[in-house]
Amino acid sequence: MNMRRPLAFCFLLALAPVPSRAQSVPPLAAPVFGYADFGREARIEARFLAVPSAKLAGQHLKALTAEPHRASTPQDRKTAEYIARMFRQAGLETEIVPYRVLLNQPKAERLEVYSASGQLLLAGPTREHVDGDAYQDNPGVEMPFHGSAGSGDVTAQVVYANYGRREDFDLLAARHIDVRGKIVLARYGAIFRGVKVYLAEQRGAAAVLLYSDPEDDGYSKGDTYPEGPWRPETSVQSGSVQYLFKYPGDPETPGVASTLDLPDSARIPARRSGNQPLIPSIPLSYHDAAPILKNLKGPGAPQGWQGALPFRYHLGPGGVRVHLVSQQDYQRRVIWDVIGRIKGAEFPDEWVIAGNHHDAWFYGAADPSSGTAAMLESVRGIGVLLRQGWRPKRSMIFASWDAEEEGLIGSTEWVEQHAGTTENAVAYFNMDVGVCGPDFIASAVPSLKQFLREVTGSVLSPLGGSVYRQWRISELGHSERNDISTPAVAEDEPHVGVLGSGSDFTPFLQHEGVPSTDIASEGPYGVYHSVFDNFAWYTQNADPHFLYLQEMARVFGLEALRMADADVLPYDYVAYAREIAGYLAAARRKALDAGMEALDFGPAQAAASHFFAAAERVHRLQTTPSGDLDKLDKLNKALRRAEIALLSENGLPNRPWYRHTIYAPGEFTGYAAMVIPGVNEALDARGENRAAQQLNVLAHALDGAARTLDAAP
Ligand SMILES: [Zn+2]
Repeated sequence: MNMRRPLAFCFLLALAPVPSRAQSVPPLAAPVFGYADFGREARIEARFLAVPSAKLAGQHLKALTAEPHRASTPQDRKTAEYIARMFRQAGLETEIVPYRVLLNQPKAERLEVYSASGQLLLAGPTREHVDGDAYQDNPGVEMPFHGSAGSGDVTAQVVYANYGRREDFDLLAARHIDVRGKIVLARYGAIFRGVKVYLAEQRGAAAVLLYSDPEDDGYSKGDTYPEGPWRPETSVQSGSVQYLFKYPGDPETPGVASTLDLPDSARIPARRSGNQPLIPSIPLSYHDAAPILKNLKGPGAPQGWQGALPFRYHLGPGGVRVHLVSQQDYQRRVIWDVIGRIKGAEFPDEWVIAGNHHDAWFYGAADPSSGTAAMLESVRGIGVLLRQGWRPKRSMIFASWDAEEEGLIGSTEWVEQHAGTTENAVAYFNMDVGVCGPDFIASAVPSLKQFLREVTGSVLSPLGGSVYRQWRISELGHSERNDISTPAVAEDEPHVGVLGSGSDFTPFLQHEGVPSTDIASEGPYGVYHSVFDNFAWYTQNADPHFLYLQEMARVFGLEALRMADADVLPYDYVAYAREIAGYLAAARRKALDAGMEALDFGPAQAAASHFFAAAERVHRLQTTPSGDLDKLDKLNKALRRAEIALLSENGLPNRPWYRHTIYAPGEFTGYAAMVIPGVNEALDARGENRAAQQLNVLAHALDGAARTLDAAP
């Protein structure tokens, strides 16, 4: 999935990549956080960094993208087996872990567009097609569809809802345009697609059509495939419309693992579970949306609502009628995670987990196979170290998740299965779309932001210098980075975003409190979730020489390696505390603006100060780690438990699966993070009592985290 910033593509011209050369570690600035003496580790890292190969990564990518491999299909199983084979070759103790989960696939999808006089304007959906793509005609290519879509047969008038955000529906209501019983046509972009369907359903719509407007994803951006990287006319973005902001994973088993032996009696009816839409929805190309938009009557599109199709948009209804059929075949189907383990030599019960998903809507060259190809080269690098006699201090787990696209299912079920033991997990490193261009980007919990900057400082970029350096340079070219985090670092430090949702870090961080990161190398990517995200598009547009696969293999592997071997866990809680103080200050301003002067932020702010003081003390212990293993072990456990203390037992109001008090996907954004979500969502809903109660929950969590750090020896 992973389209956290769907509009934040890079507009910098990529410099011609310099040919790959022998990797050497750029000079390291003095000590590395988490290590008493980094000298020995630097030599291990150098040996690791020499292994990942652009050529072999390209071969993995070619193999992984040979066939479409949607979750639970035989081709998906073959993909899992390929990955398992590579894990075993590298010396990992490997198993394929199956789950039985509810998934839909389309039996029939139809779209007929009629003019006001009843003339048939379009019978679709039109098959995705361009001239000269070798992959589109494979008989294994299915019709585009929405995971978790409702079934239905609807004939109705249409209302255009722009991006389908809350403010868009509010504007329609203010103009007395009623969406009840209508088909809502909305464009992709700005927020997670499931939220668009959720809002349309809440407001009484009968069905939803989602399309890619050329303004956001098509010819307005640049040349379309096969001439360039952008979305061609008939291309459709498939994707899940699961209400994952309620809970992700198998819709029938929130909080429970869908193992093969889980009895049906332990499953709940999906359509009443709250995470599945009740109304049908279909994804469309701009080719198929055009006749609807062109004939729609009603008021002209207000400012910001006009897209790039060559005519004036109107809000509707009237002028056009649509007949939509969506028949979805729901079955419990088997999916396959691949889990590879290396036992740690000193702290075998501490796990460093690094993962990427392997299922794709179609071929999935960028999403997710570029991430998988890079991960396989990371794993091969770790395998070479193992053969040289090295063992990591902590255990390492490499994971290749299945059914991420349908709603983070493989990762969520695995995390739920290990719920009693996730305290053992000291970090989760995610990669989804590994590479679709040259710009490194990252998101993380605040405690791991500096860790990420240090790791990227140790890896060479194909553009010269370190990845860190190129990351900084490319950041300067991005004026807008829509983020709410307070700048807790020097201004010229590259920006690390906050974790919302849309990929497999969600169950780790937001359900179990595992410190997480998410990395990618970004670029113009107009074939997201379409048949054109294939090997031909990738080698033409994203990474012709696979140099960025090699780069990401090094960064991803080094994250895992450096964390696994650290003396003391390199979590920076001072940075975390600073960010939280910033979130609280912003929430307080929001409360004052909303006229809630009586709301008492005092206890939460006091708890945040307590957390800050505890973080400063423990930071000093971390920079001069004790040689006493027992003390070190206690310090590490305290560091790990501090993040767990940020979970609340009851979870967020109305969505108890989400337990993290600092980060959740926004209920009305889906991908973008909501910070201190309990408090902020109560303020947004003007619920003063709920805000007061959520401030208490937050204060309790922060005090708990502070006390945990205080107890470190
Ligand atoms: Zn993905």
